[in-house]
Amino acid sequence: VVERTILIIEDDSDIADLLRHNLEREGYKVAITRSGENGLEMTRSSPPSLILLDLGLPGIQGLEVCRLLKDREETSWVPVVMMTARGEESDVVVGLELGADDYVTKPFNVRELVARVKAVLRRARMEPRRERRALVEVGPLSIDSERHEVRLQGEQLELTLTEFRLLRFLAANPGRVLTRQQLLNEITKGVTYILDRNVDVHIRAIRRKLGTYRGVITTVRGVGYKFHDLTLT
Ligand code: CA
Repeated sequence: VVERTILIIEDDSDIADLLRHNLEREGYKVAITRSGENGLEMTRSSPPSLILLDLGLPGIQGLEVCRLLKDREETSWVPVVMMTARGEESDVVVGLELGADDYVTKPFNVRELVARVKAVLRRARMEPRRERRALVEVGPLSIDSERHEVRLQGEQLELTLTEFRLLRFLAANPGRVLTRQQLLNEITKGVTYILDRNVDVHIRAIRRKLGTYRGVITTVRGVGYKFHDLTLT
């Protein structure tokens, strides 16, 4: 078993201790720091497997810490899970676009947070493989990139190129919240024709075509969309 180290950057020591206790019980090695400056320093020499990052920090703010971590080669690959106060969806959106992997809103359920940590670590292990795959199969859905074909329970779905790209991107990132901007970047990549830039319209069309399976794409209020991670259920 590979030892997994989690760095908690959080100035509230009650929250940090509660997290440490629960993560250690799950077999993780835990380090805690109260400041972003210190967190950045600690990760320079020995990057952890994952960082739990409070957004409301004294000194350098959490979002800036996230940006610096993702800009630096030594830490750009380290998954970041943000911890945010209620009503800070706009910060969440910025953080996700900076490259954070997930977030929880305070007050959070510790069990749920531990489950998120595990899911993000598993995703980080699987991602390089998933990217290369031409065929993505999720439950009754199969997405074939080479043939540009989507099948639902064996039946071919008629999707536009934009819908195809959106669905493929979502399905390749199960459990991950993707912002509208991230989805828009994906569908406009290399595109020279004018397309409808309203992501919500395309998502609605995909859901309609998915029929009873529409629930696989969840709306995350104020943030974006998420493809249901079927391996978690
Ligand atoms: Ca705080």
